[in-house]
Amino acid sequence: MAEPKQNPLMEKIVSLCKRRGFVFQSSEIYGGINGFWDYGPLGAELKRNVKELWWNTMTRSRDDVAGLEATIIMAPEIWKASGHVATFSDPMIDCKTCKGRFRADQISEIPCPQKPSKCVGECHGEKTEARAFNLMFQTYVGPVQDDSAIAYLRPETAQAIFAQFKNVLETSRQKVPFGIAQVGKAFRNEVTPRNFTFRSREFEQMELEFFIKPDEVIEAIYGTVAVRTPNSQLLSPQPNWGWQAWHHYWVEERVRFYEGIGLSRETLGFHHQTPAELAHYARACTDILFKFPFSKKDADGNVTGDELEGIAARSDFDLSQHQRFSGKPMGVFDEELRAAWAKLPKEKQDDLWKRYYDHRKNYLTKSAKPDETPEQISLQATEDANGLAKGQYIPHVIEPSAGVDRLILALIANAYSEVTKTDDKGKSETTVVMKFHPRVAPIKVGVFPLLKNKPELVAKAQAVYELLRPHLKAVYDDGGSIGKRYARQDEAGTPFCVTIDFDTLGEKPELLDTVTIRHRDDGKQERLNISELLDFLLSKIRG
Ligand code: ATP
Repeated sequence: MAEPKQNPLMEKIVSLCKRRGFVFQSSEIYGGINGFWDYGPLGAELKRNVKELWWNTMTRSRDDVAGLEATIIMAPEIWKASGHVATFSDPMIDCKTCKGRFRADQISEIPCPQKPSKCVGECHGEKTEARAFNLMFQTYVGPVQDDSAIAYLRPETAQAIFAQFKNVLETSRQKVPFGIAQVGKAFRNEVTPRNFTFRSREFEQMELEFFIKPDEVIEAIYGTVAVRTPNSQLLSPQPNWGWQAWHHYWVEERVRFYEGIGLSRETLGFHHQTPAELAHYARACTDILFKFPFSKKDADGNVTGDELEGIAARSDFDLSQHQRFSGKPMGVFDEELRAAWAKLPKEKQDDLWKRYYDHRKNYLTKSAKPDETPEQISLQATEDANGLAKGQYIPHVIEPSAGVDRLILALIANAYSEVTKTDDKGKSETTVVMKFHPRVAPIKVGVFPLLKNKPELVAKAQAVYELLRPHLKAVYDDGGSIGKRYARQDEAGTPFCVTIDFDTLGEKPELLDTVTIRHRDDGKQERLNISELLDFLLSKIRG
């Protein structure tokens, strides 16, 4: 269960997480359960802040995204349509010597569980052939445990969005382009959970499916498809954007989100999937990586990082699959397209028709069921392409899909810093300062009376605490010296500490009702009026 002792920084982070209540092993009193983690008091606050920021950024502050909260267990047909039942598997091999079980593609990176000190980096025992291992957790719905009752814990949140696409479209009064966002649990029976919470078996995702018009539809309505170049990144969405522009836009939006919570561009990396890596239906996929303490170096000695989020242009694959498997239409009607199509010259209509037909035929051929004939496929593709003239099409989708737990780990790793101070006698002490961005910090402010045995100080400090706590996560602490209290909050990553002293009570009349506010990262202190305190803190947290 324990992390292999290979990475001193990761060891410190794991130990801090337990000591300060960020992350605990699930079921620890029973020896733990591999791949499952609990968030303690500080971790729970941190996670809540991250999910709320994502939700606010991706839905509440946009007119073109609606939210969804779907169930974890859904009709098993969903996972047949999505391809998860048939293909969501990892290649697994067993070691005949140590009896370890590994992902075949990670074998050289994994220490032997039996003799970690001897075999770090590779288990030398004889291996079995690789075999596919489906990552979905299976369960039964209802009292009878037979094949007809099999259901799955969702391995991603995205499929519920596709399955509810029509309901959301109709109830939210959105029009393509628009998105549906969801945050929630996902489950994968990972062969080798590892790197602390990075690869867990139960985790949370924050996913957006952003539905867009196919390029042929854009071209029919606007004449051309706008391509967004890297230096046009500040442009807001335009009606004539095609999939490339939207894909580019969402990568940029997501990077800005990470920057806004303290992960600078230098800490991130990018992986643009090669054609060989892309799923057959995908047009592009950019992974946003974070340079974790365990991230490996590439051939040039640079740390590229490990995946935080994938942003995929998935064409119309998902909605098309659900249309085919459910028999329910997943297309939309677009009056603008119908009107524009009627005005197009015949050659343009033919050109767009042919391109749309080819795309549909390609999809239908690659996803054909065994009993479907080429004639049936051509007929269906013809029907789909004929739909353009009637203003009908199946939306394409751009999918920014992020993992909450990986982001929490990235924020913790990014915030971790050590400060060593040496006193007059030459004795040095190293303490940990968690430099979280104020937006995500689990506790925003600590409120301290200078002395706990002076009732006037305590009463005033309590009043300040009560003033702040309805608006932000605050803690009240009167235990030990002020220095000790600062150190406790530094380890928790609290960006501000407020001390109520005798000047607050008017010892120096000009300082009556002012407090000292201490900044975590540089230790600087300033004096603020109590009446300004809340606005000051909120501006730092929200600003
Ligand atoms: P990986 O290649 O690392 O297994 P993936 O490409 O399969 O990840 P996706 O299916 O694209 O991941 O899932 C979207 C996001 O969900 C990932 O970017 C990641 O942040 C998160 N995620 C996926 N699997 C796990 C896991 N086992 N533990 C924690 N987070 C995960």
